[in-house]
Amino acid sequence: MSLFQRVLRFRCFHSSTSYLAVNQKKLLERARKDEENEILNRILKNPQIANPNDVEYLRNEVLNSGGKFTTKSVDRILLKYFISSKQYDIGLDYIKYLSEEHISKSHLFLTNQIFRLYFQKRYEEKSLSEAAEEHLISLYKNLRKSYPVLDVISLEHAILALSVTKEWRKTIELVDEIKKMNRPSSICFSAIIAAAFLNNEEKTAWMFFNEMFEKERPPYDVIFQAYFEQLESLPDKQEVLSNLEKLFRICTEKDIIFSERVILDLNKLLRKNDIYATFTTINKRGYCTNCQKQLTNLELTDEVFEKLKGKIVNNVIVGKNIFSKTTPEEFSRFQTFLKSFDSCDVIIDGLNVAYTAGTKQSAAVYSTLLAHVVAHFVNKEKTVVVLGRAHMNKWPKKQWSYVRNNAKIFLTQDISQDDPYLLCCALHCGKDTIIVTKDLMRSHLFLLKDPVDKIMFSRWLSQRQYQLKFITNDGKVHFKVPLPYTETMQKKLDNWHIPYLSNVDPNHEGNESSTKWLCMQCSK
Ligand SMILES: [Zn+2]
Repeated sequence: MSLFQRVLRFRCFHSSTSYLAVNQKKLLERARKDEENEILNRILKNPQIANPNDVEYLRNEVLNSGGKFTTKSVDRILLKYFISSKQYDIGLDYIKYLSEEHISKSHLFLTNQIFRLYFQKRYEEKSLSEAAEEHLISLYKNLRKSYPVLDVISLEHAILALSVTKEWRKTIELVDEIKKMNRPSSICFSAIIAAAFLNNEEKTAWMFFNEMFEKERPPYDVIFQAYFEQLESLPDKQEVLSNLEKLFRICTEKDIIFSERVILDLNKLLRKNDIYATFTTINKRGYCTNCQKQLTNLELTDEVFEKLKGKIVNNVIVGKNIFSKTTPEEFSRFQTFLKSFDSCDVIIDGLNVAYTAGTKQSAAVYSTLLAHVVAHFVNKEKTVVVLGRAHMNKWPKKQWSYVRNNAKIFLTQDISQDDPYLLCCALHCGKDTIIVTKDLMRSHLFLLKDPVDKIMFSRWLSQRQYQLKFITNDGKVHFKVPLPYTETMQKKLDNWHIPYLSNVDPNHEGNESSTKWLCMQCSK
């Protein structure tokens, strides 16, 4: 799972309550969109647009459909529909035959839509006619005459348009204009990078690629489509392979996962070059069911972990004062606690584990749960630390004494935030310590500045985090455990394993990964 997909998931797991609220809002929004799409699908089934009357007819049909369309929103919604349903020529005809009155009212908006339609059309059809290029260039020139200063949205659209023409280098000036006002968007960077690849200016392409990554803008498919399109013209299979290898290595480093669209394009390129590849699955133990090679965890080296630890301590713990809700006495007591041991095998987020049973259970239930989890690790001869809250001292004696006698315990005041303690304790114990919590510590992730650090932090956490699923009546503890391999592009001997996401399901929570794979053989 790429960093960006992880971010999506983090948002969904914020907490059970807000997750529900977000979900309901999403569901309502989705229902509204579904209804809107149903109407549009019905009315716009094979639309014919050959003259202004056809456009008026379509507009009126939509406006009188009973949906929540208004004269103000109808053009925007229809054009959005044409773009998402890939009916680019229909969209262009729609604008062409809109009445003078509508055109003059929203001239800038419509020009932007023409730019977007041609951009999408170019990557869908893998080419653009010379006449269309000239048209875009002249539209842009006229636009600049009417609007010497453009807003960010229009600059972005102009970048899309020019990026698919021979004037693509102008996009570099335009993105500088945007930078004076804002951080350029993903699609802006992607359009420029794709254009640079298509025009054989690799150096420029990678420069913007790195900048996009540093600015935390996820890449659009067009980048990879353009990259593969260029490779199609290479006569030599070995050259294709070495260029792919270069791309894959960069994707591994930046934790990029392809979309299904990109993987299908890649597969076409591979077939054309007689490079063997097949869709595959990776089993629970990390073996590819096609080539039987085992994928591995990309572990952080000690050096990387120490650096990351230093950055978290300085930038996040000290710099952002994440212990602000803690008293100085408590913090100093915690430091003394940490000094009392050098390492431990397992850190348990006590309340987080207890609340797996819900927040309305009795202390007897909570303490039993926690005692079972502690016992699970103690029976495996692991050393255990439990972090919790002061009120846990009042839990039923039998279970709580077991926890006290078998684990090192640190309890914060009931008002303190405990996840900074969890993070600090985990860093103190070293990179191999298991952390038992459902908390994904995303707020700390966002406080780290460098995207590489964010990837490393996510990787470390995802390799160490055990999430309690349930405990059976006989006390057997079941966890969602980390995968034994990293879900990122990996080369094992002669085989590249390329993960891709066919459909990001934010509700996916099981032990099984939702990621699919392509196994590609790179031997001669
Ligand atoms: Zn394989």
